[in-house]
Amino acid sequence: MLGIMQDRPLLISSLIDYAAQYHGEGAIVSRTVEGPIHRYTYTDAWKRSKKLAKALQKLDVKLGDRVATLAWNGFRHFELYYGVSGIGAVLHTINPRLFAEQIIYIVNHAEDDYIFTDLTFVPLLEQIQDKFSGVKGFVVMTDEEHMPDTTLENVLCYETLLAAEDDEFEWPAFDENTASSLCYTSGTTGNPKGVLYSHRSTVLHSFIVCMKDTLGLSSMETVLPVVPMFHANCWGIAYAAPMCGAKLVFPGAGMDGASVYELLDSENVTLTAGVPTVWLMLLNHMRENKLTLDVLERVICGGSAAPRAMIEEFEEAHGARMIHAWGMTEMSPIGTCGTLKTGMEKFTPKERYDIQEKQGRGTYGVEMKIIDDDGNEQPRDGVAFGNLLVRGPAICAGYYKGDGGQVLDDDGWFDTGDVANIDDQGYMQIVDRSKDVIKTGGEWISSIDLENTAVGHPEVVEACVIGVYHPKWDERPLLLVIKSAGSSLDAAGMLSYLEDKIVKWWMPDDVVFVDELPHTATGKLLKSQLREEYKDYKLPTA
Ligand code: AMP
Repeated sequence: MLGIMQDRPLLISSLIDYAAQYHGEGAIVSRTVEGPIHRYTYTDAWKRSKKLAKALQKLDVKLGDRVATLAWNGFRHFELYYGVSGIGAVLHTINPRLFAEQIIYIVNHAEDDYIFTDLTFVPLLEQIQDKFSGVKGFVVMTDEEHMPDTTLENVLCYETLLAAEDDEFEWPAFDENTASSLCYTSGTTGNPKGVLYSHRSTVLHSFIVCMKDTLGLSSMETVLPVVPMFHANCWGIAYAAPMCGAKLVFPGAGMDGASVYELLDSENVTLTAGVPTVWLMLLNHMRENKLTLDVLERVICGGSAAPRAMIEEFEEAHGARMIHAWGMTEMSPIGTCGTLKTGMEKFTPKERYDIQEKQGRGTYGVEMKIIDDDGNEQPRDGVAFGNLLVRGPAICAGYYKGDGGQVLDDDGWFDTGDVANIDDQGYMQIVDRSKDVIKTGGEWISSIDLENTAVGHPEVVEACVIGVYHPKWDERPLLLVIKSAGSSLDAAGMLSYLEDKIVKWWMPDDVVFVDELPHTATGKLLKSQLREEYKDYKLPTA
């Protein structure tokens, strides 16, 4: 027997409609590429997304066509999130930090019709435009006054396009399973793979993001996503904020400590989200300039693990709680969130930090399990670890055009490539990426754990651990360290710092001090490159 309820499709356009109707006065603040801070409301954004939708239709953009963006977090990018998907076209957010060859590959793979670009990326596009096979034109996201003198072919001005339209527009209705947006994984090896979200998965994910147990968004919150709108849908925040009328603050290109601090402070931000590198820069800036943040309540950290010292500093110096969120582009992206459960408020700070160090509990809509290499499910005791598998309605079932092959097992589980444990309260902790874990004499060492312990040293700026060849143990850990300017830390000092903090057999066999470490386009340590670089490294213990 079927239920007798209205069958209304879950469409992305309903999010901005809702925001305009119930939170029309809600603010959206953006640091623009042109310079000044821009302010407007959800009603303004709603009207302009409708103008954009009409302009796109005039450009003959139809249901299913791909429209790309190369842009920072800002109000025009926000309008594209709604204007493009709202007419059933597919918003392809490109990560500008990818190598030029990767950008060329994904533009051609996605068969983008138009590319909307911030002024920043015009020079990049000028250099590579002749490698694009099907792009019909470029739209520079600025006004006539700031239009650059450019060699881009078929170039249009965003504000001129919008000025030609009125906002009398009904969003079209279509199947909620229609593709809405496309995001390529950064991929440390091989070509990037496209994750193709649907309207349904995006709206369901927005509910999950808003939940009190996840980011807990509401119209009472002011949210600053430092996480880019080109990285995994801005972790869903650009969709979830309109769902509940939260004030949005977009940082534009300013992700350094001073710029982020300025907006957090002047806009009275209550919740912010980004990767540990961003928080490292912010904390350094605040420490050096003796600054504090009083209004900020929660700092969401994802993409990589936050070291404990960072969690402690946010709480003890600024009264802000750092909460881990873990996920992947393939998961829309949020899978877990480290909010506390009832009773935990009574924990001592140390007990609470133990929880906050983990990646968090599965959110509603995300099933998780850990298995060994033979497929046997491992106990949820916080000790046993295994390959982390996930299943849910906002998790990908394959990659765009089938590239990347079959990704689900017979029961519909997706292998995240992460190795994790899950405790009896349901909190998951990432132990490592399956390809980064150090396999030594049949046992596994977590490179992440070692790195996080090493950065606890006050003179360590960044640390990276890789496995290098050892004739007896197969692999042993090598610790690469960037130390602070003027530090006289040496290998012996580094190892003696670790001595009482890790088990003996985890002790790195050597320490190398470096000036920089390579990162991927999404800010993660590029360990595949380091493994290649150090593949012939001779350990003193070998
Ligand atoms: P991406 O698709 O670029 O967002 O990368 C997803 C991967 O980033 C995951 O599979 C994890 O390996 C890693 N990751 C994401 N969030 C966290 C976190 N909070 N702690 C540790 N690793 C994370």
